[in-house]
Amino acid sequence: MKKTEERKWLRTSDDLYEKFAAELESGIETGEKVSSGDQDIKYGIELWRNRLNKKKLGVSYDIIPRGLFADSSHSREWKDEHYSSKVYHRTCRLNKAVYVDGKEVYSNGDNKVMYQTVTDVLDGARVEDDFYCCPNCGANVKIGELVEGCPYCGTFFKMDELYPKVSGYYFISDFGETENELKSEIGKIIWPMIIGFSILFTFVFSVQKNGTGHSLLLSAIPGVLFGFIFGGFLGYILWVYKKLGKLFKEAGKSIVLLSNTAGSNKKFENCMKKYSPEFSFEYFQSKVVSMIRVIVFSDNPVDLPFYTGDGVNGCFDDVIDTDFRGALALRSIKEENGKICAYADAYMINTYERNGKVKRKEEKINVELERRTDIPIDYGFSIKKIQCPGCAGSFDATKNRTCPYCGNSYDIEDMDWVVKSIKIVK
Ligand SMILES: [Zn+2]
Ligand SMILES: [Zn+2]
Repeated sequence: MKKTEERKWLRTSDDLYEKFAAELESGIETGEKVSSGDQDIKYGIELWRNRLNKKKLGVSYDIIPRGLFADSSHSREWKDEHYSSKVYHRTCRLNKAVYVDGKEVYSNGDNKVMYQTVTDVLDGARVEDDFYCCPNCGANVKIGELVEGCPYCGTFFKMDELYPKVSGYYFISDFGETENELKSEIGKIIWPMIIGFSILFTFVFSVQKNGTGHSLLLSAIPGVLFGFIFGGFLGYILWVYKKLGKLFKEAGKSIVLLSNTAGSNKKFENCMKKYSPEFSFEYFQSKVVSMIRVIVFSDNPVDLPFYTGDGVNGCFDDVIDTDFRGALALRSIKEENGKICAYADAYMINTYERNGKVKRKEEKINVELERRTDIPIDYGFSIKKIQCPGCAGSFDATKNRTCPYCGNSYDIEDMDWVVKSIKIVK
């Protein structure tokens, strides 16, 4: 294939969208930190890489920019008193491959639109570079560095997000084509047809005219002419037919998705508005998808601080990729005894690997969620040392509910949404 000026999104980019796309690639391929994602996204990708390591799988995950490079355009935007979120999208090609012992066992490539939600604080208070005195050892450390724990004494902190961060992302299929892509795609169908028909007509004419002494060369002139007319015409019809077939198939799927998710937004906001206008469905959707990713890639979900359900019987153990299709259907939402209870279906494409065999499945993941009504969404930046009440040890309680030193369970009291149950529904 011809290589036209290949653009790449870079980790060093000043543009958060491009930075995140590049960090996502290397986070999955090599386990490098995804510093532009929020804490949930970062942890989900870390666990994803762990899963691949555990299964001894190599992957390549390439997001190649193509066509539309909208620099600062965004499709949707919402704001509350303190945060603003914008959804950005650009077209790309997503190429994935899975390797066992260096041998490719699976590959998939598709044109996609990549959506990213970028969340930022409105008042613009950036604390990343502020210094904070570690209450354990007294060292003055930049808050940005404390995310991974105090570099001097290892104390962990529960802190709010250091904005701006990418708080959600997903890919959906892109049927639009750039001019070059269109030309090459039509060409692939039309040229073989033209050549085939030209040979056929040349042959037919030469056989017919043989008695009167026409040479093969003379027959080639009308042969090629007819080849162009018939081959071009039939090739074009075939291309349209193929294209429409694909479009209808995908449109059918989209209609199912749309009809299932219609009204989710309204249902959610009607219920939540009583408590605070700050709750948006978009935030809820990103949060739910991030939590699903973390649970799916966690080897032991019952250890997660935001999961209060039973064990999942290893039903996600073979999942090596989980793609959110951009649609979350809210089945029900209601308040009961100071808690909001919600059921939602997330439309996913899950990729499973077992004994070197890779399979993709379109699946719905049903989650039951709960949130206390008396916990507000946090405003100002807060940072808090995490200390086990049992043994005074410090550990990352945002990732693990039990203390690794004494086994006590530690509750983060101002937990946002928690997942009470999760299952795959067909
Ligand atoms: Zn310290
Ligand atoms: Zn402890």
